[in-house]
Amino acid sequence: MNYQDIQNFINGEFVSCANQRINVDSPLNGEVISTVPLSTFSDVDSAVIAAKNAFPGWSGMTSKMRSQILYTYRQILEQNVDLLAAIIHDENGKTMDEAIAEVRKSIELTEFACSIPQIATGEVLEVSIGVECRTEYAPLGVVACINPFNFPHMVPHWTVPNAIALGNCIVMKPSELTPISSVKMAEMLKQAGLPDGVFNVVNGAKEVVEAICDHPGIKAVSFVGSTPVAQIVYRRATANLKRCLALGGAKNHLIVLPDANLELSASDIAASMCGSAGQRCMAASVMIAVGNVNPVIEKLCTEVSKFIPGAKMPPIISRKSRENLIAYINDAEKKGAELLVDGRKFSNDETASSTGYYLGPTIIDWRNSSSKMPDSEVFGPVFEIIAAKSVEEAISIQHESPFGNAASAFTQNGAIAKMVAQQASAGMIGINIGVPVPREPFSFGGWNSSKFGAGDITGKSSLGFWSQLKKVTSKWAKQEITDWMS
Ligand code: NAD
Repeated sequence: MNYQDIQNFINGEFVSCANQRINVDSPLNGEVISTVPLSTFSDVDSAVIAAKNAFPGWSGMTSKMRSQILYTYRQILEQNVDLLAAIIHDENGKTMDEAIAEVRKSIELTEFACSIPQIATGEVLEVSIGVECRTEYAPLGVVACINPFNFPHMVPHWTVPNAIALGNCIVMKPSELTPISSVKMAEMLKQAGLPDGVFNVVNGAKEVVEAICDHPGIKAVSFVGSTPVAQIVYRRATANLKRCLALGGAKNHLIVLPDANLELSASDIAASMCGSAGQRCMAASVMIAVGNVNPVIEKLCTEVSKFIPGAKMPPIISRKSRENLIAYINDAEKKGAELLVDGRKFSNDETASSTGYYLGPTIIDWRNSSSKMPDSEVFGPVFEIIAAKSVEEAISIQHESPFGNAASAFTQNGAIAKMVAQQASAGMIGINIGVPVPREPFSFGGWNSSKFGAGDITGKSSLGFWSQLKKVTSKWAKQEITDWMS
């Protein structure tokens, strides 16, 4: 499908800008489906002015009034699941099933934001005779979020509903590779009754990110993307004295033991590595095989063959990303790793669509190579296998990884599962689960180079990021009894 040229959304209106444009092409077939502007500092400035003007009215509403708008928005999302999924399919390439699941997750995230009036109630205590202390969650003002390509609808819902429910006004930058979902998000929030200026979208690339980090009117910045860019954003935003939470890349380790349930483990790991063509920060990346787990590996090789690119598995986001993945596989082969499943054959004419950026599931076995598996993120349907003699050794291998998004144990032994959960250096742990994403109200966030900044980006933990606590101490009545504080 072809879409209109993308515009920025500022103060409740789509506004044209005179900037240079780049093409948005669909990874399904390489066709140009839209264009997106490369906005500049002045576009970010216009959005910040709109947000600043909207702030007194929006933050002046009660949180129950704000959540009523989000309830309406949630209903609009529900009525448009198929439309939104079709857009995700076109711009990101996800299968329709995956795209529908993404929209359903956005709905769940919005439901959490609707519940904020029940959660962010503050506290009150009579701290001394006749003296009362009270806390309340005050918004920060104008805040911003910067998004990656891989969840063009869900990742914006990690931040926007919670940030605005707490009374902030927001400037959002979508990925320039997948900007179309954000158009619908803007339209639907407006349709739900969100006042103009509370939600603004500025499209573009690096220059917009830099403008967000530098703009003195923006109080807090969230970022989701690769680790090198997360570091740039975290350093730049905090150097400008902003609050920043920057989520980065991942390489997730699965510690697999010989007693793992064969069927459950193989199908779960296959779904984890192949879902969204492995372009998920929670995807299974590396198996640490503790002892002989060959039956699981053999079954896994059979399971992944069900993920046929162009049918059950989506394409890679861009030609360049696919080339990088193929270069990684070629290099592993050169270093003596064995390809148990080789997905490169799908990157030529054998795919459902010969022009889409497809790559088949690939399993690289490093166990007999004299080279070490690189510790870089791969971000595709590429799963690697390394060996450990014991669970202790497996945990110490996991600790050597620079990342710490997720780690999992596949075993029937509760004590070993508990040991992995306690000792793995990762923010999200799975026990017999390949994609251990916590669901609301639990929060999402990794450790180490997978996240810079304090707290998590969703759930209860995110409330602290998008607000500041106000402490009010009051004394009204004349006191009969007094103490040292009265
Ligand atoms: P990316 O880092 O290339 O881009 C993310 C955002 O940063 C985009 O909006 C992009 O325009 C901007 N950007 C890119 N280069 C920049 C630069 N040099 N300076 C300033 N801004 C720049 O990431 P991506 O390719 O869009 O997304 C995939 C990455 O995101 C993977 O590494 C994946 O692991 C990660 N990711 C992490 C999480 C998490 O929760 N930790 C979730 C989703 C994706």
